[in-house]
Amino acid sequence: MSEVQVLASVQQFIERQHGHFIDGKWVNVDNQQRIELINPATEQVVSTIAVGSQGDVEKAVHSAHVAFTNAWANTSPYERGIKLNKLADLVEAHSEELAQLETLTTGKLINLARHLEVANTVIFLRYFAGWATKIHGQTMQPSIPSANGEKYTAYSIRQPVGVVAGIVPWNFSLMIGIWKIGSALSTGCTIVVKPSEFTTLSLLRLAELAIEAGIPAGVINVVTGAGQTGQHLIDSKLVKKVSFTGSVPTGIAIGKQATGNDLKHISLELGGKNAAAILADANIDEILPTLLQATYVHQGQVCAAPERFLVHRSKYDELVQKAAAAIQQLKIGSPLDESSMLGPLSNKPHLEKVKHYLDLAQQNQQIISGGKVLEKTGYFVEPTLLAVKDINDPLFLEETFGPVISVTPFDSDDELIEMMNHSRFGLTASLWTNDLSKALRLIPRVEAGSIWVNMHTFLDPAVPFGGVKASGVGREFSDAFIEDYTELKSVMIRY
Ligand code: NAD
Repeated sequence: MSEVQVLASVQQFIERQHGHFIDGKWVNVDNQQRIELINPATEQVVSTIAVGSQGDVEKAVHSAHVAFTNAWANTSPYERGIKLNKLADLVEAHSEELAQLETLTTGKLINLARHLEVANTVIFLRYFAGWATKIHGQTMQPSIPSANGEKYTAYSIRQPVGVVAGIVPWNFSLMIGIWKIGSALSTGCTIVVKPSEFTTLSLLRLAELAIEAGIPAGVINVVTGAGQTGQHLIDSKLVKKVSFTGSVPTGIAIGKQATGNDLKHISLELGGKNAAAILADANIDEILPTLLQATYVHQGQVCAAPERFLVHRSKYDELVQKAAAAIQQLKIGSPLDESSMLGPLSNKPHLEKVKHYLDLAQQNQQIISGGKVLEKTGYFVEPTLLAVKDINDPLFLEETFGPVISVTPFDSDDELIEMMNHSRFGLTASLWTNDLSKALRLIPRVEAGSIWVNMHTFLDPAVPFGGVKASGVGREFSDAFIEDYTELKSVMIRY
């Protein structure tokens, strides 16, 4: 099949000399230094972005602060919901354009960009829009003794924290950006977003659409650049909360920086080495398509996706043989070709990281299937299945964030739980079984923020998402995000 034609509007957008988007408009940048955005399928430069200086960041934060105090915090919840819904309508109307921007910079398959990333962006925006009118405090009855007949009453109110810094990774820039923007705007906060330096364009375009949606200037600002620009943002005194999604080492550094000086609110959504446990009763033919789709989607560059298959010994040989045969059928190709089933890894440094793990597996003779970097233009690697026996092996313990899966047998429930929890991470896990009674007994013993049964990596806005252990702090979605983006104020009255 031939490649999807890049839209003229996309071509025009990528050819622009992008600055930062501050106070509702494009602004000139302090710094002449620029970062090239590379198409990972062709290794060609797609566009360049500005590197945000401290001065650029302060302009953006100041704009967000003014918008918070003058405009957004005083906008009625109903109006905030209307504007978020209007933005959702505009994202939907521009869905092909946004999907192509994502595909050109991340190598995400065009159908995944359309039907997962952009479609979910719309769903999440509408979900957050609905919350704007439902944020409330409580009333309480104090027990303070009354000597002279005086009475007491108390209530709590939830108030937006103020300016939020949203720092976003490269794997699902638009959707993860919206998790932060939607949470901030529905609670009455304003936001400065710093997208990843690898995949910046879709969030820059979104900021323009927000103005078209009637969201006041300064409520959403986007400053571009790499880690240092993010550090300036966290250091800014007017930033009251940092919402970060990315790797564990960066998350830990950000957590320390954000809380070290002035105890900003933080939420950290970090990495994982997620286990999929295939129990003795599982029907391999039935579960395999769903399991493999969850595993290799976006070339495994999904924080919640499984990277460790733990298989009951009675099913080990069958799973290995059928999974290896299935992944050899996955067609690797251009992400703009609708018939491709796997695209490239998203960037060169990440290819180097995944290659390191493939080399390690090669040296240790662990490769069951795949294991090679393709000798062609683009950052393509084969979907890979590894036999890993030792639970202290780096391939059992470290996140590759690529299409690289370890398979390890287990014999008993206790051994399974020990293996699942033998990890510094605790983001997600899944159990594949028809024995619901057994699943319900195992679920409380698994150290993970999310656990699925007969499914994996299904994110729904109504269901809280976040990690335990080194996988993070805080929860997104559901009503759990409200706590992170608001201050709880208590009021007591004597009468
Ligand atoms: P990363 O940590 O390298 O970068 C993430 C963002 O942080 C980028 O915008 C980057 O420019 C910025 N950054 C880097 N150093 C910084 C610093 N010192 N201060 C402030 N900002 C800084 O992560 P990545 O490589 O973009 O993303 C991949 C990682 O993200 C994987 O580990 C993956 O598991 C994780 N992830 C987690 C979730 C989740 O919801 N838990 C979702 C997606 C990705």
